[in-house]
Amino acid sequence: MENVIIIGSGCAGWTAALYAARANLNPLLLTGAQPGGLLTTTSIVENYPGFPDGVDGTELMMRMQKQAERFGTRTQYGVTVTRVDFSRPRFKLWADDELFESKTVIIAVGASHRHLGLKSEELLERKGVTYCATCDGALPVFRNQPLVVVGGGDSACEEATYLTHFGSEIYLVHRRDTLRASKIMADRTLKNPKIQPVWDSVVEEIHDVKQDKVTGVRLRNVKTGATQELACAGVFLAIGHVPSTPVFKGQIETDADGYIICRERTSTSVPGVFAAGDCVDRTYRQAVTAAGSGCAAAIDAERYLAKLEN
Ligand code: NAP
Repeated sequence: MENVIIIGSGCAGWTAALYAARANLNPLLLTGAQPGGLLTTTSIVENYPGFPDGVDGTELMMRMQKQAERFGTRTQYGVTVTRVDFSRPRFKLWADDELFESKTVIIAVGASHRHLGLKSEELLERKGVTYCATCDGALPVFRNQPLVVVGGGDSACEEATYLTHFGSEIYLVHRRDTLRASKIMADRTLKNPKIQPVWDSVVEEIHDVKQDKVTGVRLRNVKTGATQELACAGVFLAIGHVPSTPVFKGQIETDADGYIICRERTSTSVPGVFAAGDCVDRTYRQAVTAAGSGCAAAIDAERYLAKLEN
């Protein structure tokens, strides 16, 4: 029987682990399939306090892990929770056939990439359609080719800028005529001569499923209804995220989009189960706010355990 199991290994998870370990709770952290979470798919993080020159996303995660483990966090790699039973205080979690039991749980599972929902997108994934420029942008197939980035947020701007090192030109396709991204990222992106914004447009189809590779996209202007074909070798989707919470459905309260609802601070609808990071937060979604909420969840779990023992 564990004191605290932390599910997820992004900023929220490692920070929760650090605080739980320093409270002598001997936490167990289950990393999930993608250790380090979404920050490992980003390049340089420029807005995490304490790193005036920026820090590589993967390096930041490795530093957080090292710090959490220094105080006794136990890590189980690649373990993805497939089922939970939070109906009784002795919480049960399964990773396939392996059973874990814990007095408290901190859910820090983050979010995964949102998909457009096109059949051609699904069929051409990893064949030119990708959700991570930093992972795939340098592949030979994209070199000196026109590339399409979809989205108008910080991720889309960051991906488009990164891809200018590889592609011949980068089309930034956004469904509105202003970017959602922070001012500094938006300005930097729009000033880049290799990036060409395509406003008010959505991807209707990705070609070419028959050739089993990306050769172009059909775009539709949402204001005029006009369509246009754009030749490209890659489609990089950066249209936001969805919380990775389906496994908790029916066990804790979530909103219609799957974000976990916290009742009091980091407490979920089940006393003893806490949540932190992007799976809770649809407003800020920053590395530093995720870390802060991970800290809060660990402190809340510690206080809950202290009450149980009294
Ligand atoms: P986001 O801010 O939610 O932006 C998603 C973008 O995709 C929006 O422009 C949205 O359009 C568009 N979109 C959503 N669904 C779409 C669809 N079905 N079809 C076409 N377009 C669609 O997501 P994000 O850019 O991944 O950023 C997430 C969070 O991480 C933000 O808080 C961001 O600040 C942060 N972040 C920070 C950095 C950094 O500071 N270095 C880097 C990356 C991310 P609308 O604008 O019309 O809604």
